[in-house]
Amino acid sequence: MYAEVVVDVPSESAKGLFHYGIPAELEGEIKVGSAVLVPFGRRELTGYVVGFTETPDVARVKDIRALRGDTVLSEQMMALSAWISEYYSCSLGEAIAQMFPASVRRGRAKVKTESIVELAIPREKAEAMIDVMEKKAPRQAQALKILLEKGPKMPRRRLTNAPGSTSGAVRALIQKGILNETQKEVLRSPIKAISNTRKPMPVLTREQDKAVTAIVSSLDNVSPAPFLLHGVTASGKTEVYMRVIEAVLARGKSAIVLVPEISLTPQMTEGFSERFGQDVAVLHSRLSPGERYDEWRRVERGDARIVVGARSAIFAPVENLGLIVVDEEHENSYKQEESPRYHARDVACERARISKAVCVLGSATPSVESYYKALHGEYRLLELPHRVGMWEMPTVEVVDMREELAKGNRSIFSQALSEAISDRLTRGEQIILFLNRRGYSTFVLCRECGYSMRCPECDVALTYHAAESNIRCHYCDYEEPVPSVCPNCGGRYIRYFGAGTQKIEGEVKRAFSHARTCRMDTDTTRRKGAHEEIVSKFKRGDYDILVGTQMVAKGLDFPNVTLVGVVSADTCLNLPDYKAGERTFQLLTQVAGRAGRSKKSGHVIVQTYSPEHYAIELGKTYDYRGFYDEEIACRSEGLYPPFSRLVLIVVSGKGLSAVERYAISLVRALRAQIKSEKQLKGIRILGPAPCALARVKGMHRWQILLKIDPRIKPHDQDKLIKGILEACPSPSYDIMVQVDVDPESML
Ligand SMILES: [Zn+2]
Ligand SMILES: [Zn+2]
Repeated sequence: MYAEVVVDVPSESAKGLFHYGIPAELEGEIKVGSAVLVPFGRRELTGYVVGFTETPDVARVKDIRALRGDTVLSEQMMALSAWISEYYSCSLGEAIAQMFPASVRRGRAKVKTESIVELAIPREKAEAMIDVMEKKAPRQAQALKILLEKGPKMPRRRLTNAPGSTSGAVRALIQKGILNETQKEVLRSPIKAISNTRKPMPVLTREQDKAVTAIVSSLDNVSPAPFLLHGVTASGKTEVYMRVIEAVLARGKSAIVLVPEISLTPQMTEGFSERFGQDVAVLHSRLSPGERYDEWRRVERGDARIVVGARSAIFAPVENLGLIVVDEEHENSYKQEESPRYHARDVACERARISKAVCVLGSATPSVESYYKALHGEYRLLELPHRVGMWEMPTVEVVDMREELAKGNRSIFSQALSEAISDRLTRGEQIILFLNRRGYSTFVLCRECGYSMRCPECDVALTYHAAESNIRCHYCDYEEPVPSVCPNCGGRYIRYFGAGTQKIEGEVKRAFSHARTCRMDTDTTRRKGAHEEIVSKFKRGDYDILVGTQMVAKGLDFPNVTLVGVVSADTCLNLPDYKAGERTFQLLTQVAGRAGRSKKSGHVIVQTYSPEHYAIELGKTYDYRGFYDEEIACRSEGLYPPFSRLVLIVVSGKGLSAVERYAISLVRALRAQIKSEKQLKGIRILGPAPCALARVKGMHRWQILLKIDPRIKPHDQDKLIKGILEACPSPSYDIMVQVDVDPESML
């Protein structure tokens, strides 16, 4: 028998199956779903066994070198890998690799152990020896005495450090055969020990109770449909999840709870640990590899039946899965931005389907795609329309920045916002100033009338290219020169927008020099623990103003924050992305959720040049349904998801003309293939065009966008993409192709 192995390599040459011999000592150990070390060319790589065959495809078959750990993927996880490989057009090896922690894949997984010493001789004999030893070896006698008192066994290090004992004395006792030394596994746990005093469970509201009952009653279904739990901020979604988890555990099953990486704060995980104790394992990228591996093993052994984690926790080795919760399902951090470019929400739905488990997607602002599915019967819709407790949603005030300009105010702060900031500062209350993370993509806007340049075909914002001094659509490559006067009002105040957090922080410090200001964005939180540090300092009152990106909008409770300012809603509204409207609405809702988390009433000020845009107008009153109706009409008209599936193909490389030539050749090949196959009718090709971020780290980037009729099977789509990439191999080693199915970011 020979093993069929796939390897975790994205390059074209390695996408297939490879046959390896099984050495005698590993016979019976290697199973479908095992991770193995194999010779590959001149290297050794981690591979995964996907099957067995009697007839190898080459004459000289090499042997598997070793087994990497004793994990064997279940049939269900193998099926999930196959789905990912097909749906996201990646290699099977890349997909399977996701199911293992990095330390296992790299062969660096190590179990941490501790030395334990115990008495190797009868107690009476040892007691007798102490008297003899006392004169010749007083330290050994002392060590032995301590062990007899506190024993029968203890960590070697503790005995060594005990008063009167030394490491030499303990070593001597072991050498003489008086003590026995063994190794015991120690778990590196990321969760601090939680006191066992269980808080009394809150009484459920009637709405929460209804949601819990509906979900619990579907736990015993053979193929339950996913739920979409649409609950306003602070409506008590987490309590709903916990009650359902209790029912899941009572059935002897397990649960996975996904939360966006950024809201995986200690508060969040402690909440689950307080309720479920040692049954909870935590998995996210801020753990050390050792902690991650140990938590993963606790799950694999069934010692922890609840996994709380970020995106990749969807692959946790949970047996007997009963429930998957995806909290804040609209969050774009669920999308992995490197291959395989999967979306954890969609993988969650597929894993739940394969495991016959219940999937619950929760959000205050569901993604348009999910809400569409809920309205069309694919998901079941549950609603929590009220906040728990007496707190009111804060009032939202929209400031028209065009009027500010007319009044002669050219600063980034409107009069209303700067007055409100001063007012809170004198009252000793806190302020959050909010900015869009993606301030770096530059758009062009008229400050007098608020008109922004958009593509006439694709209805996305045009992107400013300084080098050519033009504005371009990066979906279809439409371009025009930068206008010198506004085409709408003839005004001369055309501005390029794209200010970052650092710049705003500087402006705040200038305008409110006596305030204590801090900043939270990807730059200031790169270091491990930095995020938590800023949060706790701000919470403690060390700062008056927090300037930040999306990061501050999520899952944080600051009771003393009574003012939230959105400095420029336009940076979000004018993203060169069809989701710009949706992102803006989500942003306003989340930001508002940060103010008024206590009895003090909260206030939100949104500055914009487009106060009449539906995302802002409806965001002001938290009218999700109204927003959805507007947005779905736009999507339908532009044939954007859910009315199409998008596939973004990005070609990048050092030489601009080579990148462009290759992108053109891919488009040609795609057109020919689509024309020749009947089942591919209904695929539209946009581009090639330069990406909105046309140059990143010295690499030129061009993109091709496919709009695919949702009735076309993912299988046919995958065959088309993989077929084209095989038929048109990259012309040189430095030209790379990325395929992104259901892209979250189109920059
Ligand atoms: Zn204008
Ligand atoms: Zn266009």
